Amino acid sequence: MKKILTCLCFALPGFWVAAQTNILSTNLTAEQVLLGNYSPATYLPSVVVNHPDDIVPAILNGVSPDSLKAYLLEMIPFENRNTGADTLSAVTGIGAARRWVHRKFSEISVQNEGRLLPSYLQFDQNICNSPRHRNIFAVLPGIDTSAHGVVLIEAHIDSRCAGECDINCPALGMEDNGSGTALVLELARVMSRLAFDRTIVFLITIGEEQGLLGAEAFATYCSTKGIPIRAVLNNDVVGGIICGATSSQPSCPGFNHIDSTQVRLFSAGSFNSRNKQLSRFIKLEYIEEALDLVAVPMMITIMSAEDRTGRGGDHIPFREQGFAAMRFTSANEHGNANVSSPSYHDRQHTSDDILGVDTDGDSVLDSFFVDFNYLSRNTVINGIGAAMAAIGPVTPDFQAVKNNEFATVDITDPLDYNHYRVFVRSTTHDFDTIYTTFEKQLVFSIPSGIFYVSVASVDANGIESLFSKEVLPGVVSATNEPEAVILPAVELLQNRPNPFDEATVISFLVNREITYREAVIQVSDLAGKVLWYQKLDLKTGMNEVLYEHGYNVTGVYAYSLIIDGELAGTRQMIFAN
Ligand SMILES: [Zn+2]
Repeated sequence: MKKILTCLCFALPGFWVAAQTNILSTNLTAEQVLLGNYSPATYLPSVVVNHPDDIVPAILNGVSPDSLKAYLLEMIPFENRNTGADTLSAVTGIGAARRWVHRKFSEISVQNEGRLLPSYLQFDQNICNSPRHRNIFAVLPGIDTSAHGVVLIEAHIDSRCAGECDINCPALGMEDNGSGTALVLELARVMSRLAFDRTIVFLITIGEEQGLLGAEAFATYCSTKGIPIRAVLNNDVVGGIICGATSSQPSCPGFNHIDSTQVRLFSAGSFNSRNKQLSRFIKLEYIEEALDLVAVPMMITIMSAEDRTGRGGDHIPFREQGFAAMRFTSANEHGNANVSSPSYHDRQHTSDDILGVDTDGDSVLDSFFVDFNYLSRNTVINGIGAAMAAIGPVTPDFQAVKNNEFATVDITDPLDYNHYRVFVRSTTHDFDTIYTTFEKQLVFSIPSGIFYVSVASVDANGIESLFSKEVLPGVVSATNEPEAVILPAVELLQNRPNPFDEATVISFLVNREITYREAVIQVSDLAGKVLWYQKLDLKTGMNEVLYEHGYNVTGVYAYSLIIDGELAGTRQMIFAN
């Protein structure tokens, strides 16, 4: 993780941070696969495992806590994986770590008929006084080049101490982010034995701690080359289960609290967000494909914000360049707040982010800060989501309208799957109702209040496509003529989720174009004291504002929409812990 503040430098390219130049893949065959220029027959395994009934158990049974632990133990000798650290030593520093990842990908490829193509994504930029950098990635070619889009699973491998460019401190970075690195390597190992219609990329980045720079280089490479990334699953801090004292909000319930059965999915936006829809897809695929089969069920929580308050991660540069992207993070983290504050005494971003301790003096670690079983459960959730995104059908188009009683969804699907899911969401980040239909039209009774509709195709194997964007159904009268009632120009809606425990989305509808000088949304306590406000740019249709509340401050608050000094609407929201 990094401070968002560092990231503000992106607004001033060439001022704070020199531009990234000479971005290139060192493996041109891997690049041609990413562009779709290859013969799938070249990479067809002798035994094709491509059916979800085989893929799901292969991932569930293949992902191993011992294997994840072994990767983390192997990462300890690198000592400092800062992006500016040594690149020449065979034993320590970021160069040795990068070559180790590349070697792991190569070994996995040898075990799988050469089907995994390792590469570096090299670029030039001054980061911590080092001019040239390399992400490491591996491409698993899809077996059907007519299936469009590439699925990307990623994590950053660089680590840090309190000093952002300290290349001499012990910076083992096991929770942040050896855990994510191990997860990506493990999925490369397990998934390379299987066959997916679409291409999958396993990406390990550097430069995250200095401003998401490795991910930015890869996102730029993909958008410049026209590589169609359809989903980005970023894993950052995915193995720890113990709360520190000073984590960024939304945070732990309390110091030393343990949670080994929940993971948080962060993504930008709410209504009509491809990123949130990707998070919902990952959650649904886990629930429907894996939950009955796992020994320890995981709770997947879809978060309101794109990341923890003031923090960012590698999914952000991908989202900024137009790709659907989200982040996995443990429910509990050991710190991550301002590491230079005297009150900071947690492990993340310090020399204390170690794998564990030797409690009995035999020089062998026996008590661990990364929980390998928890990490393996998160690995499985990633694997199932990525696998289904890589084999599933094509997302259909649709239209949705409603009258006072019913909504009608009309699906346009040139591929005629004739099996669809229709998702209805109203008050939270999760769907309220999921309909299954074998017709291209679905009529259902509407819930009360505002609701959003999205759809997916389902293929012959019962796998959903990625979900469409959400729409707000258009209003029609019973005779299918536009309703004659005059709607107010602006309607302030109930925040969602409500009650909420960290951040919430305040939304309002602008039903027709209006002229105004200034529009503001403000939050106040019930005594009328304004606690927060934000200027707005009103656009016709649904408008959304993310409101991040302080943690551990419960109660009822009011939020108001004010246009040119006039109150356009006010409602209450409940902040609960
Ligand atoms: Zn991190």
